[in-house]
Amino acid sequence: MNIYEIINHFGEERSGYEGSVSPPIFQSSIFSFESVDDMRQSLKRELETPFYTRGYNPTVATVRKKLAALEKAEDCILFASGSAAIAAAAMHCVAQGDHIISVAKPYSWTTTLISKLLANYGVESTFVDGTDVANFRAAIRPNTKLIYLESPNSLTFEMQDLNAVSELAKQHDVITICDNSYATPLNQHPIELGIDIVVHSASKFIGGHSDVVAGVLCSSKKIVAEILGDEFMTLGGIISPNDAWLLNRGLRTLPVRVEKVRDNSFKVLEMLEAHTKIERVLFPFSKSHPQVELAQKQMKPCGGLMTIYLKTNDVQKVEEFCNSLNLFLIACSWGGFESLQFPMCALGESRNYQHELPVNMIRLYIGLEDPELLIANLEQALEKV
Ligand SMILES: *Cc1c(COP(=O)(O)O)cnc(C)c1O
Repeated sequence: MNIYEIINHFGEERSGYEGSVSPPIFQSSIFSFESVDDMRQSLKRELETPFYTRGYNPTVATVRKKLAALEKAEDCILFASGSAAIAAAAMHCVAQGDHIISVAKPYSWTTTLISKLLANYGVESTFVDGTDVANFRAAIRPNTKLIYLESPNSLTFEMQDLNAVSELAKQHDVITICDNSYATPLNQHPIELGIDIVVHSASKFIGGHSDVVAGVLCSSKKIVAEILGDEFMTLGGIISPNDAWLLNRGLRTLPVRVEKVRDNSFKVLEMLEAHTKIERVLFPFSKSHPQVELAQKQMKPCGGLMTIYLKTNDVQKVEEFCNSLNLFLIACSWGGFESLQFPMCALGESRNYQHELPVNMIRLYIGLEDPELLIANLEQALEKV
């Protein structure tokens, strides 16, 4: 199916809601029945039909269908956050005594999940440099049940060869999960490369307007049914119908937004890489990125996030640069309409960042603004360095 067919029409049952072009928000926790037998029949399919909104809601169902189709997966579950999706996926794959191999430096709360929460339940883990598949091979133990990937990661953009890692995992009967938030379901298809479960923070590009926190999990019908029946229903980290509606609205423009963000990113990148006040720029599609060939092999060109190192170690100068960069809001997250900056020198003692990060390191998110304005804004701030 063509992506615009999916985004505009798939899963929308307009004839069922009076031709409404924008789907209604089924803001109802429960659904009622005409007879006892109707209820009895519905209860048999509680997770596939209106009964109770934790299990099934029609507004949520529309978006599940679209995201599964975009991700080339059989089915999809939506969650209250990306972290909820990641936790449900990982918990599904392991039990006490099992072992996880995770790529080094995944999203910060994913690190906490694996190295602390799951460890509390007797799950072992090894974090490996994911740039070489041999490191995964060397870490496999008899009790390894899960390989957790995030490609690229959202700060330093290391990538894993998804096809090679999934083949290795299959040989050892190990499940693979990949966080695909960076590339979106449009620009990288891990399931086609053999990955079992794909997760997203929909708070980023999919929502796209910095107004919703949500998560996505895509997989086979079998795995989705198992997770729905166990982790999803018991932990209950569901998305609200209203937030699902916002995701549907975000999806309408996802292709044009990611395209514009990519074009803007390449323009900003060119200027930054040539600038004398910049020590280096990290970006997966930069010619200077050590894995640029892998980026081109397994993703379509995309962008948004890049990390710069200023040519100074003076925190005062770094702060002066950041405070002058007024078109880039100082904030966490990314994937919205607006450009952002996340200076590592703001992290301080924040307990969730275990890695030593240099003070001159700043993550930028390039939004939908006029690229000439963004470049001029960066240039005037760089003069302060
Ligand atoms: C933001 C993010 C998450 C967490 O998603 P939330 O929706 O904030 O819970 C996970 N992975 C990556 C790569 C992220 O950027």
